[in-house]
Amino acid sequence: MIPTKGYAAPSATEDLKPFSFERREVGEHDVLIDILYCGVCHSDIHQARNEWGGSIYPMVPGHEIVGKISKVGSAVTKFKVGDLAGVGCFVDSCRTCESCKEGLEQYCEVHNVGTYNSLEMDNKTVTYGGYSSQIVVDENYTLKVSEKLDPKRVAPLLCAGITTYSPIMHWKMGKGHKVAVVGLGGLGHMAVKLAASLGADVTVLSTSPSKEKDAFDLGAHNFAVTKDPEQVKKLKNTFHFIIDTVSAPHDYNLYLSMLKRDGTMVLLGAPPEPTPVAAFNLISKRKRLVGSMIGGIKETQDMLDYCAEHNIMSDVEVIPIQKINEAYERTLKSDVRYRFVIDMASLNKD
Ligand code: NAP
Ligand code: ZN
Ligand code: ZN
Repeated sequence: MIPTKGYAAPSATEDLKPFSFERREVGEHDVLIDILYCGVCHSDIHQARNEWGGSIYPMVPGHEIVGKISKVGSAVTKFKVGDLAGVGCFVDSCRTCESCKEGLEQYCEVHNVGTYNSLEMDNKTVTYGGYSSQIVVDENYTLKVSEKLDPKRVAPLLCAGITTYSPIMHWKMGKGHKVAVVGLGGLGHMAVKLAASLGADVTVLSTSPSKEKDAFDLGAHNFAVTKDPEQVKKLKNTFHFIIDTVSAPHDYNLYLSMLKRDGTMVLLGAPPEPTPVAAFNLISKRKRLVGSMIGGIKETQDMLDYCAEHNIMSDVEVIPIQKINEAYERTLKSDVRYRFVIDMASLNKD
């Protein structure tokens, strides 16, 4: 076993603190990754605080991992020692169901093994995430990371990047489309960059008037404050697509009214409580309300390659691991510009 240092949530109500545990030995298809950076996703907070239910403690969160390969198993062909590599939201799946065969492992019909807060395919070994010194992952669930990009700014692509890229590609958003992004946080700022890079006309719908300048700097063409009824009124019947990245309960009906006929609203944000939707807000103009979850391994690699080619990276605030609890509080206040990323070298300071 490989001794590993990390930070864990001991329970739903306690702060994260130092935690030592063991990783499995490197199997023939595995790689060992020394973690350089790990992004802080709002899903880490939802799960550390058991907001979705079923959390397993102690929990080492983190699924936006970038690091260097330090060991490879005897049968590994895709990676060698010294390569930059990434790990996203899952580390295994059944590999045989229809979804897995189509490269949509995130929708595995048997068991999608989360990078943390999950059980391995053996249904008993708990997984621990990227707020840690190293991780052992099957090479088929490991991504190649280009040396061209800054690794700390690449880390958030492994969740925030692919979660927004996948629906943008699936519904073919781009030139000629008016696309609204609701919530300018980790996912939201990547949605703006990606949709704008594909030629869409992008509007940010935010509760934070202070984010207006940033929205334009990130590539948006318009900005509206959703707390202002006058601004909201003007947006009725405007958008072909709305990408909703909001983490807290909010009224979907307000945004549905901003869709054009045949428009599509994609839910990415995962608030813990359900929200009622009025049927008439959909049937009156043949609108669609849909959801999307992260992306498969192949699509994640495509996204990383696309970002390397177009020089697209996350805007990050790098923190030492000792500041993780503070970063959670700031994220909850929408005070993040636009992703906290942990510099894992700071683990050695404890
Ligand atoms: P984040 O960085 O905290 O951003 C969320 C943004 O939502 C905030 O910055 C804020 O933007 C807005 N917001 C917050 N509370 C709001 C409220 N009460 N009403 C309206 N807007 C509000 O979070 P994130 O990491 O981007 O994650 C966002 C959500 O997506 C989380 O629920 C997360 O679990 C989920 N998620 C889903 C997937 C998936 O596969 N579907 C993947 C990753 C994450 P403004 O200040 O601009 O209003
Ligand atoms: Zn995430
Ligand atoms: Zn499967």
